[in-house]
Amino acid sequence: MAAITLSHVVKKYGDGFAAVNDVSLDIKDGEFVILVGPSGCGKSTLLRMIVGLEDISDGEILIDGDVVNDKAPRDRRLAMVFQNYALYPHLTVFENIAFPLRLEKGKYSDDEIRRRVEKAADTLELREHLDRKPANLSGGQRQRVAMGRAIVREARAFLFDEPLSNLDAKLRGQMRTEIARMQRRLGTTTVYVTHDQTEALTLGDRVAVLRKGVLQQAASPRALYEHPVNLFVAGFIGSPPMNFLPGQVEGDVLRMPLVDVPLSDELRRRIGDRELVIVGLRPEHLEDVDTLEEAMVAKGVTFEADVDVVEWLGAELYAYVPFETREEVAGTLEELDRDLDGEGMRTQLVAALGAESRARDGDVS
Ligand code: ATP
Repeated sequence: MAAITLSHVVKKYGDGFAAVNDVSLDIKDGEFVILVGPSGCGKSTLLRMIVGLEDISDGEILIDGDVVNDKAPRDRRLAMVFQNYALYPHLTVFENIAFPLRLEKGKYSDDEIRRRVEKAADTLELREHLDRKPANLSGGQRQRVAMGRAIVREARAFLFDEPLSNLDAKLRGQMRTEIARMQRRLGTTTVYVTHDQTEALTLGDRVAVLRKGVLQQAASPRALYEHPVNLFVAGFIGSPPMNFLPGQVEGDVLRMPLVDVPLSDELRRRIGDRELVIVGLRPEHLEDVDTLEEAMVAKGVTFEADVDVVEWLGAELYAYVPFETREEVAGTLEELDRDLDGEGMRTQLVAALGAESRARDGDVS
């Protein structure tokens, strides 16, 4: 197993475009780190640089303290697990797992190969499937065979590049749990690339959010969710996404599109001497007044609004509430738009209400 350190890593392609721009990150031995961000943010490029499939333009990558910038991929002893698992359909599970050992001709005796493959199969609960072909395995078992290959080589870390993106939602959920379970059991350092923020939040010990090649924040899923460092991270992490409302300070209140909120000392302190602010409001922090005890209602700020559309999801109910913003706050919205890559101009609020809510399309709630 290994610690991986990225120090001011840069990747420039031919035209001088920096796909990865000065990224520094310490990945601890045994840690499960997710690289997440929108398409084109540079996460695959970063992964390929770690494994050695892509040159580094500037900066250093260290594995267990050794600079590996100029080391060939095989000498780094890292294992890349690809989207389609790259299994050989004509080989049995045993031979698929043994494959990397057989490649190094003469290095391992047949006994040694058998010992390593069986040990890996025990760890991965594949022992009874060793004689099968990949076509006769479930998706989860195939995933484990791919991991088995990495284990027999005694790879120091697993690197996953969007391994679940081709699967349907149900299978994706199962495989996600499977990968998390295996990683915990093996304790192998793992770097996992995805653009799916559910995977990012559920799998990783730590999540690194990238945008346009620049690392925005690397933190535990909870810390990212509760304390995003900027609007981009706030808007990217969370589903449905965080609501953003322009707010204007007027005396003792903060005026927002749907509601005026009295300014507490704490809010005042945080706002400082600004007059215009952007208020981030998680959908689940909104409640349907009709479903609450009076004491709870008294603790919060209430408002009435026209519900445009309702989506019922069983355990939750999403209510969409359109809003209009006043011209005075246009500058705030432009700032928001810039920070959210043109997705800032939100004109509706989404509330994730409890399933007991009786909100209906067209209601005033
Ligand atoms: P996706 O989720 O779509 O795979 P990503 O975050 O993994 O995106 P990368 O594949 O790392 O993004 O690409 C980062 C940027 O570098 C993109 O803008 C891409 O167009 C650019 N890029 C990638 N490979 C090359 C290349 N060989 N030559 C020039 N530009 C490249």
